[in-house]
Amino acid sequence: MKIFCIGRNYADHAKELNNPVPTEPLVFMKPPTALVVNDKPFYYPDFTKDLHYEGEIVLRICKNGRSVQPEFAARYYDAVAFGIDFTARDVQDQLKKKGQPWEIAKAFDRSAPLSAFVPLSELPNPADIHFQLRKNGELVQDGHTRDLIFSFDTLIVYLSRFFTLQKGDFVFTGTPVGVGPVQIGDVLEGAIEGKTLLRCAIK
Ligand code: MG
Repeated sequence: MKIFCIGRNYADHAKELNNPVPTEPLVFMKPPTALVVNDKPFYYPDFTKDLHYEGEIVLRICKNGRSVQPEFAARYYDAVAFGIDFTARDVQDQLKKKGQPWEIAKAFDRSAPLSAFVPLSELPNPADIHFQLRKNGELVQDGHTRDLIFSFDTLIVYLSRFFTLQKGDFVFTGTPVGVGPVQIGDVLEGAIEGKTLLRCAIK
């Protein structure tokens, strides 16, 4: 099982971290040991002092495929979940300065809390999904997938040029503006179309 993640896929978020808006998808991966399911708690890691949440819509891949053509891309995902791409921002900043890969800042154990999946067929408008992240009850991220730089279909086409997509893979599609730090004791809640699907307590 593979967990693909897309960086800088909302222009407002790329700008808030002073990153250029990409001209092609920025891809990284997390291992299965990154997943946290069933609202289990998240334990603040000892190697960072600046852990950030990034609330994201996550696609579930439902069909194996490679070199998928654009007209068939929508057949390869069937459901979405709310996910958090936890990022050790201080570690990532050091890696970025050195031009090194991001894995230890992004792909560490439990860095990917994930809610249950909602079938796309149950959403009012799969082409524009509204999602929100609250920290201790306060709205901190409010995104719409219509603002994605690279759409779900574009991501499927792009990823499948390099990697065979397999049923059960996930794609974290990127975070909108509003990322920020968490502290021990905080509670994050992720909602899709106003329904809270994810609860993550920082311990
Ligand atoms: Mg992210």
